[in-house]
Amino acid sequence: MIPVSVATWQTPEWLREVADAYRSVGDLCRALGIDPAPFTSAGADWPVRVPRPFARRIARGNPDDPLLRQVMPDTREDDTAPGFVHDPLCEAGACRGAGLLQKYAGRALLLATPSCAIHCRFCFRRHTAYADAGAGPSHWDTALQYVAADPAIRELVLSGGDPLMVADDSLARLFEELAALPQLRRLRIHTRLPVAIPSRVTDELLAMIGRAPWPVTVAIHVNHRNEIDGPVLDALKRLRRSGALLLSQTVLLRGVNDSPEDLAGLMEALPDAGVMPYYLHCLDPVAGAAHFEVPGERALALIRELRRRLPGYLVPRLVREAAGAPNKLPVEFE
Ligand SMILES: *Cc1c(COP(=O)(O)O)cnc(C)c1O
Ligand code: SF4
Repeated sequence: MIPVSVATWQTPEWLREVADAYRSVGDLCRALGIDPAPFTSAGADWPVRVPRPFARRIARGNPDDPLLRQVMPDTREDDTAPGFVHDPLCEAGACRGAGLLQKYAGRALLLATPSCAIHCRFCFRRHTAYADAGAGPSHWDTALQYVAADPAIRELVLSGGDPLMVADDSLARLFEELAALPQLRRLRIHTRLPVAIPSRVTDELLAMIGRAPWPVTVAIHVNHRNEIDGPVLDALKRLRRSGALLLSQTVLLRGVNDSPEDLAGLMEALPDAGVMPYYLHCLDPVAGAAHFEVPGERALALIRELRRRLPGYLVPRLVREAAGAPNKLPVEFE
């Protein structure tokens, strides 16, 4: 939650942007010159949240804008579709308590906070019972005790929600506690905040990364080239210069980025920002998101086309999550 008691003069700009986000279909449509009527009755179970810096990259008057489609409720969210369920990855089964998930060897994932700066309509966490998963700072001590007791965990992945919703002073405390765990070799941060609100890349954050005792990797969630405007480019470059390794994570989404032009355009924009393409995720089959699904055949055809157009190192790995699998599964050519 936003600490509303903090005086404005000491509130960092990014937290003001969080507080200032569009939170209704009406406000968002008014700002963008779009008729709200087709959207107002949709997706009531997942509130609208669109920060203004992200909204500024949406074309005015175009209900089909690829950024708008990711954040605007759609009446199809209320449809049921076979195989699209509330906990598609059976994450509840991988939960060690205190917000710690352990699915893969050597890595554990900490749900550092349940909150997010932006609400993506396709998010598989839209139904996650965070209270059950125990996510949030009040559970960190317990989670870290669990990590400390398991020397096989060499990398901690901070996720959420969005772990950069945690304020810098709390994040610094977490970094310090992690630095005391001798077995930890790497830290990773999975975040959409540098794209949603680029002012989140504060000097304090950069300093924290710069003095961390292990390599810090930041996996940036970005789905379309239009998401990278000047301020985002600048924020990512500063993050890169702090010493962090930057990787991308993209969700393949129908009507958003399922064309060779859109995907190649994004992958070619990433190195400008110091980001290496990493994963292209097939959509997790979460209830309410079936209209975003790109069929497997089509996904493979897109990768084939990317290979023709781009240097090998700019082609992301197409993967999907499967409950109980030992890793994210590569989607392979037959
Ligand atoms: C995706 C994920 C990871 C990281 O997987 P990599 O293949 O190393 O990027 C770790 N833990 C969980 C629970 C995950 O979902
Ligand atoms: S930023 Fe990530 S966790 Fe948050 S709503 Fe979007 S996809 Fe979900």
